[in-house]
Amino acid sequence: MPNFPKKLRQRLEKRKNENALRKLSNYKDLVDFSSNDYLGLAREKKIQRQAEGMMLESACSNGATGSRLLTGHYPLLEELEAVLAHFHKAQTALVFNSGYDANLGFFSSVPQRNDIVLYDELSHASIRDGIALGNAKSYKFKHNDLKDLNEKIAMSLRAQSRSEDSEIYVVTESVFSMDGDSPDLGAMADYCAKHKLCLIVDEAHAVGVLGQGRGLVAELDLEEKVFARLVTFGKALGCHGAAILGANGLKTYLINFARSLIYTTALPPHTTASIIAAYKLLDAPEGKEKRERLYNLIQRFRSIVSEYGLQDLFLSSDSAIQVAVLGGNKRVRHCAEILMQNGFDVRPILAPTVAKGYERLRICLHDYNTRQEIRTVLELISKFGNG
Ligand code: PMP
Repeated sequence: MPNFPKKLRQRLEKRKNENALRKLSNYKDLVDFSSNDYLGLAREKKIQRQAEGMMLESACSNGATGSRLLTGHYPLLEELEAVLAHFHKAQTALVFNSGYDANLGFFSSVPQRNDIVLYDELSHASIRDGIALGNAKSYKFKHNDLKDLNEKIAMSLRAQSRSEDSEIYVVTESVFSMDGDSPDLGAMADYCAKHKLCLIVDEAHAVGVLGQGRGLVAELDLEEKVFARLVTFGKALGCHGAAILGANGLKTYLINFARSLIYTTALPPHTTASIIAAYKLLDAPEGKEKRERLYNLIQRFRSIVSEYGLQDLFLSSDSAIQVAVLGGNKRVRHCAEILMQNGFDVRPILAPTVAKGYERLRICLHDYNTRQEIRTVLELISKFGNG
């Protein structure tokens, strides 16, 4: 076997092997405060059984057997897209293999040369990578800062020659994945409508949880003011995959130009069936109960944060993502280790995934966590913080 190249080894050494796959034996039987399975749908046997039923009923194959544009387009996928459009009150939905693929496909193909993309500085890597593959000029604006967005637009307009048909795209997320906070989406949508900008909202962490599961755009009745939404199925839906929601023209455009849709094998039918079953549960009384349990736990979490005087350590967040910024990879790792030894799976988020000095514990709450578990986790963090 050829040697692993020296320059790659050196690059790896510089990163100090910060990223590693977890040692499975260490994490066995720990209480989950880490996965994005906010409603516990990934462990829901009912969804598995329903998906198997759908597979048998429609005599599905194991694999999609090709790209959506060739043999990989099948009835369950069409059914899912209809479910999505109806549930999220969108004109159409187009399913991609993951949120990463959807953002890559969208941002690399929709914004064109002479267009401008303005994105929140904490935007997910998939948004940034998509923009980097495209031909539009891009600028980041300060996190959740409408005033800075306004200034960056003025600056970008001065810096760039534009034609009559140039578009400006503004990108934000409903719930930011590493901070758990949200923008003032109503104000942002009004601003974009007033200035004729195309607003794109990544709803990855809002789907299933906010707006009766429909997301933040739907909660605030902003469907008509948003150019495109990304919904993903690997988080609260407990499955895998994603979709772009938008107008008919956008769907047709993406089918023709989004390379991450065109040049890959489509989602397998069992995944598609699971997503349909998960949406059914989301829309049923059981889904509502799960969301309510989660909201109560989030409130409980915040009140214990106040009780222990941890407000300065924790970022302000009303979402299922609660973040304690401890600072320093070593320190965050040490705290996560203590939590693990006490039976809790809380992962450290290290630099360079987040900026140096802002290394953190990312605690994800789930409807299956208990009040006592939450109290013990916060007690341990409080002891660590004061230790
Ligand atoms: N957008 C955001 C905001 C995310 O947090 C993620 C996943 N971490 C994605 C997109 C990508 O979604 P997926 O995991 O389905 O590729």
